[in-house]
Amino acid sequence: MKPEHPETTAPEDAEARRAVRPVICYPPDTLPVPDMARFRALRAGLAPIGEVLVPPREAACFRVPAGHVFRIQSVEGPQVGDLNLWNAGDLSERFYSGKTRALHGTHLSTGDRMWSSFPHLRPMATIIHDTLDWYGFDDFGGAVHDVIGTRCDPYTHNLLSHGGQYHHCCHSNLTRALAAETGLSLREAEAHVHDVLNVFMCTGFTRDTGQYFMKASPVRPGDYIEFFAEIDLLGALSACPGGDCSAQHSSDAAACHPLRVEILRPDPAALAGWAGPEPNGYDRSHGL
Ligand SMILES: [Zn+2]
Repeated sequence: MKPEHPETTAPEDAEARRAVRPVICYPPDTLPVPDMARFRALRAGLAPIGEVLVPPREAACFRVPAGHVFRIQSVEGPQVGDLNLWNAGDLSERFYSGKTRALHGTHLSTGDRMWSSFPHLRPMATIIHDTLDWYGFDDFGGAVHDVIGTRCDPYTHNLLSHGGQYHHCCHSNLTRALAAETGLSLREAEAHVHDVLNVFMCTGFTRDTGQYFMKASPVRPGDYIEFFAEIDLLGALSACPGGDCSAQHSSDAAACHPLRVEILRPDPAALAGWAGPEPNGYDRSHGL
């Protein structure tokens, strides 16, 4: 947090230094471009092949073969979801929230991709439709589907509540779901849980203090976000104990609702000529 009364006197050219214009760190026009025309076309022929209903304050796993689509949908009431993704064949390749944020910005929508961890760094999933894409940035600087919050977790809760033990934070929900899906122990599974995509969550940073904020999600039943699986995926989605995240999380106080995950198969003709992403091309010699 920036001090209200700094201890250091500003230099004479402080305003000039502040006035330097920013440059975008990673201009997205140099990234491999997803074939959105193909994705828009294949949406017309999607056939449902599976469905998981994530209960409130719980998480569930789902599997999506490469070249298929998964859709996360609000049902019954406004609800935020915390999403983890892994390579279904190698849990060490997992969603990299920080690099995705650096590449696409603080919030994701149609055309953005979920990138995987080093040394892989390739698109795991591409967002192909988002019924909340109209929201943009509100007057508070808030937007939907962030990659800035990490996930609600019992360790932070323990610190902030002076010893509280709460077991249905998204971190614990994801840990239990991954353990149940894979047969890993809780301790082993926990090590694979990572920073999330906050589906439907409305967040930002306050303009004056730079603090992370949340506000009631604009999601309504029927809204959904759709992802194209670029590789074979194992996913886990937690229906956050914060509900619509309008007030608090890490407690049973908020009204919570389920989230539906549908797995959909495109018409094979719509995938003709499509190939998944190659492993990252860096040679990993690190200069030696
Ligand atoms: Zn949560």
